Amino acid sequence: MSISDLMPPKTDAPNGRVTEPAGAVDLYALTAADLRQIAAAQPCGCGGTGWVGFDVPFDHPCHGRLFRCRCRAGDAERARLAGLFGAGVPPRYRRLTFESFARMPPELLDGKGEALEAAQSFAGVEQYRLDGGLYWRGELRAGLLLFGPVGRGKTGLAAAVCRAWIEAGAAPLWITWGELVETIQREYGRAGDGQYERLDRARGADLLILDEFGDVDGAGAASNDQRRIAYRVLGHRHDHWLPTLITTNLNPMRDDDGSDLCDRFGAPIHDRVAEALCHCVPVEGPNLRCTYLDLGGPK
Ligand SMILES: [Zn+2]
Repeated sequence: MSISDLMPPKTDAPNGRVTEPAGAVDLYALTAADLRQIAAAQPCGCGGTGWVGFDVPFDHPCHGRLFRCRCRAGDAERARLAGLFGAGVPPRYRRLTFESFARMPPELLDGKGEALEAAQSFAGVEQYRLDGGLYWRGELRAGLLLFGPVGRGKTGLAAAVCRAWIEAGAAPLWITWGELVETIQREYGRAGDGQYERLDRARGADLLILDEFGDVDGAGAASNDQRRIAYRVLGHRHDHWLPTLITTNLNPMRDDDGSDLCDRFGAPIHDRVAEALCHCVPVEGPNLRCTYLDLGGPK
């Protein structure tokens, strides 16, 4: 009996409990190993506890037993990434979800509708996996680049996407561009493969969330070394079509005032990121910096 036969219909599994197994499944035939696989395969429904139970009959050997929820599947890799990069979703944004945005007064969401929609699509991990990318406005790309002035909600949207991918069992790497550059440069001249290990992890992460891309030392062109790091990481993600979410205040469209993404990083990076890897969506409207704390930020 395959696991897909055993999977409960998605909508019938609130709180991770199997209320209505698909088809006529003999519950007594389910072993602990089967239930462990189902828990790891069905969408997260543990409510953050990391454990799910199943409504098997009282005399079933697994009655009352709890199994690891799918949202914890990426734990080991997430711990490894945290150890290597010391990064993660900033505490300020950790509790943000799309419901947090839905609760905002509509006038605060002015200029953010398109970005909210695109981010929500990116958070649909099952659909992403089915489509083999993020299908948006009739085009398939692997990633999303949110651009706009500071405080408009780019990082908050990225946090909500990150949370959805974690709940789907992925191990995203969340890192600011400045942290990525620093953690790699810190390894220069040290014995061992530190810089290459970090580069490889960033290149291959389940989902790379690169926050504040371009922000290290203000305006002007990025240094050759920064361009090298950007190219090694983002070029790889472009070539391998890997889920990537970038936030930046650099304009991905070329403009004339010398401060766009292309001016900062050069055409090879610009063309791969903005014209092939990512959908580029603006985040504008009111500044949200002071509102997050009321909308699911840390208490
Ligand atoms: Zn869960």
